[in-house]
Amino acid sequence: MKCDICDGKIDEHSHNGKVYWTEGHNAEPLVSGRCCDACNSLVIGFRMFGIYNKEDPNSIHYRLAVEQQRDLLLKVAVMQRIDRGEEEKKTDETQETLDFLDAWIEEQEEEE
Ligand SMILES: [Zn+2]
Repeated sequence: MKCDICDGKIDEHSHNGKVYWTEGHNAEPLVSGRCCDACNSLVIGFRMFGIYNKEDPNSIHYRLAVEQQRDLLLKVAVMQRIDRGEEEKKTDETQETLDFLDAWIEEQEEEE
């Protein structure tokens, strides 16, 4: 089974050698579908982002912030998958994502 966020493998959980969990986590509201363990922490972060944001949820500013957050988390998910070494070779898309993140991290550091 594949993760709907990072496109990586969904982990199986087992106890005493018996697999009891193969379906992944609920990936809502980041994307619709199921996700792997690593992406689940991003989904939880995304839910928190909604909870702690005190702005009017219908405002354009809020919706834009949510979309930016989603976009960023989806890129982080791909980076995490690459870090896990499932990638056989880097595609143009994953390289673009890595370049974007490097630039983003640099930008954050400059702002501090
Ligand atoms: Zn994933």
